[in-house]
Amino acid sequence: MKRAQSSRDRRAFERVRRIARRLGLRFPIDIVFTFNRSTMISYRRRREAATLRMHDVFRDASTEVLEGVLRSCFLPLSRRAAAQCGEAIHGFLHENHRRIEMANLRHHGPAKVIGSAGAVHDLDEVYHQVRRDYFPRKLIRLDLTWSTRVSRHTMGQWCEQAPGINNLISINRMLDDRRVPRFYLEYLMYHEILHEVLPPRLVNGRRIRHFPEFKQRELEFVRFDEAIEWERTAISKLWADWERRRWSGRRRAASGLYLPPEDRRAQAQ
Ligand SMILES: [Zn+2]
Repeated sequence: MKRAQSSRDRRAFERVRRIARRLGLRFPIDIVFTFNRSTMISYRRRREAATLRMHDVFRDASTEVLEGVLRSCFLPLSRRAAAQCGEAIHGFLHENHRRIEMANLRHHGPAKVIGSAGAVHDLDEVYHQVRRDYFPRKLIRLDLTWSTRVSRHTMGQWCEQAPGINNLISINRMLDDRRVPRFYLEYLMYHEILHEVLPPRLVNGRRIRHFPEFKQRELEFVRFDEAIEWERTAISKLWADWERRRWSGRRRAASGLYLPPEDRRAQAQ
């Protein structure tokens, strides 16, 4: 289902389509503005129609920049022309990268916080240990939380917040478990603090989080190899247990929900 278009959208779409017509693009182009954090432009061309998705910031791009976008997505270009278009686009993204971040933060809203004290592990302790060991003199202000959701793949996350609010490190709640060794949590914490120290970089229009310098610094964690090895072998087991518990919990809840009251009493006896 399509969302209703605002007059602001209509103006922006019309402007892009006008430029497209001037470039000789005769097929209809469906335009979508996004708040994607890493992909600034993407497109799809299917015979007689095309979709162009670009970050919301492009609403205010110059005609030259929008021409560059349309040409590099939909026209065959010489190497030289492609490089020129790329330069115009990347220049625009570089100039506006702070605006892009702010727009994304406004759009996605603040991250959820449920607290740093777990049943088994205390994230505050882990954090202070890592700060003492690796960043003793650095001024860092971060908030910590266990994640609200349990994830199979994301063990930790560094969440950038709006100005005036501390950025947040969120650690997968699945890891608040006796079987998770302290050094693995310290590794995760080190990795996420490193995102605060070495924030994402804009490379060819993409925000890169794990750029070469970041990866180099990550190796300074003394038990890096061990941590990666533990992650490789132990996470799937934790996840399997979590899934099993979750499903048996659901079955119990479902049988309680759908039994008529007298049966529920019978079951309780
Ligand atoms: Zn990372």
